[in-house]
Amino acid sequence: MNYEGADKTLVCIDCKEEFTFTAGEQKFFTERGLMSPRRCPTCRRKRKAQKANEQFNNF
Ligand SMILES: [Zn+2]
Repeated sequence: MNYEGADKTLVCIDCKEEFTFTAGEQKFFTERGLMSPRRCPTCRRKRKAQKANEQFNNF
């Protein structure tokens, strides 16, 4: 039997919106020893874009 676990609903610390932390994502994070995401995918993408921008400016 393939135990997949269950999806979790988390609240984003930035926009306070609920988002789904899927069982697959949980597995991915656990395997890499990462903490649960605290931001929704949208805010994560924004922050990543911001970071990339900073790096680009520093370069
Ligand atoms: Zn968010």
